[in-house]
Amino acid sequence: LAFDVLIVGTGHAGAHAAISLRQQCFGGTIALLGEETGLPYERPPLSKAYLAGRKAPERLLIRTSAFWSERGIALLPGRRVVAVEPDRHVVRAADGERIQYGKLIWAGGGRARKLGCAGSGLAGVCTLRSLADADRMRTGLQEAERVVIIGAGFIGLEVAATLKALGKKVTVVESEARVLSRAVGVPLAKFLEQEHRARGVDLRLGSHVAHMEGIDGHVSRVVLESGERLPADMVVVGVGLIPEADALLDAGAAGGDGVDVDERCQTSLPDIHAVGDCASQVSPFRHGARARIESVQNAVEQASTAASAVLGKATGRHAVPWFWSEQYDLRVQMAGLSRDYDDCIVRGAPTSGSFSVLYVRDQRLIAADCVNAPRDFAQARALILNGARVRGGGALSDSTIPLTALG
Ligand SMILES: Cc1cc2nc3c(=O)[nH]c(=O)nc-3n(C[C@H](O)[C@H](O)[C@H](O)COP(=O)(O)OP(=O)(O)OC[C@H]3O[C@@H](n4cnc5c(N)ncnc54)[C@H](O)[C@@H]3O)c2cc1C
Repeated sequence: LAFDVLIVGTGHAGAHAAISLRQQCFGGTIALLGEETGLPYERPPLSKAYLAGRKAPERLLIRTSAFWSERGIALLPGRRVVAVEPDRHVVRAADGERIQYGKLIWAGGGRARKLGCAGSGLAGVCTLRSLADADRMRTGLQEAERVVIIGAGFIGLEVAATLKALGKKVTVVESEARVLSRAVGVPLAKFLEQEHRARGVDLRLGSHVAHMEGIDGHVSRVVLESGERLPADMVVVGVGLIPEADALLDAGAAGGDGVDVDERCQTSLPDIHAVGDCASQVSPFRHGARARIESVQNAVEQASTAASAVLGKATGRHAVPWFWSEQYDLRVQMAGLSRDYDDCIVRGAPTSGSFSVLYVRDQRLIAADCVNAPRDFAQARALILNGARVRGGGALSDSTIPLTALG
């Protein structure tokens, strides 16, 4: 087999790279190859509406099967690439099949990190990354009443909210002193902690898992380092992602935390681009430091950049990174990257259920987390993008003054 452009990974970034190539009038052959078996689908609903049983599997699809065939995009599912030979422009699949490419777009995403403690291989201990994982979880939930979630990141908290709404007894164990410690500032973390506790989630912060125990090979409890035993019919491990880029790194690509790419999503290997969760790129929104961003917006944006680069076109400006999460009736929208800030300002009253947290550095707005506050979110994105100085003196915290009036 040989293709002008071979895309490895049929997730959000891979699918959108193919879509973008055709949108930009690329006339060559394209193949979309990946280890999963079905059509490309969206992951965000897996911890939300799909897990809750409120979304049918066909509504997860990024495009219908007719879309791919009408545009001449060959789908090669059920194949895992284990090696890349950049000099020969060839990838090798696990079954030995070799596929030739002109340009390679690597969109391997990542796999869920697992726990290494005793008992983590017991039946009923799950991670959530793929549709197959979500289906396994839904089947297991039919018999499970008590669920222990390990890790209070976005996936852990979204699963907690979904399972609580399904009437399960939910405990969340987090080793850090607060939830979402890598992703948001203290005010939003504290607010979400209260919301989960108010709805009956047993949230254990600063708690470390020692091991898990089972009965007849199925998990029955999680044992904490304190010695406490938490009964569990199911355990969901949500402790982050390991980027899938080994085949590129083994072939000599620069990287470490995923694979390094430049502003055109080009790796250090000739004719090989990388996009999505596995790609680490210098970001103007992190003051020139590298960032590996795990979001749909980043996947779609980098896919379009790589498609332009393959076509030899100029690539657009960086868009402000953004992300969303849904927990209960709370819609959280985050713009920018909230790291290395000087000041963190709460705008509006968290008790009202609609407020924002603004992150300022050098008198400029660099990020905003907005809870049920879509107008703040839209205006904050514009302010972050133009990098204008914002007025201080308490004006930012006054939600009666529109953000755009402060830039
Ligand atoms: C449960 C869940 C909820 C989420 N919620 C949100 C949300 O609310 N908002 C948001 O912005 N983002 C959310 N995300 C993150 C978002 O889904 C990811 O950022 C996005 O899917 C990244 O796309 P990707 O194509 O880089 O990776 P993926 O979607 O992971 O796709 C990678 C694909 O590559 C395949 N692959 C990997 N290695 C190989 C190989 N060697 N050979 C062949 N195939 C390979 C994988 O099987 C996979 O199909 C969520 C993710 C999960 C799991």
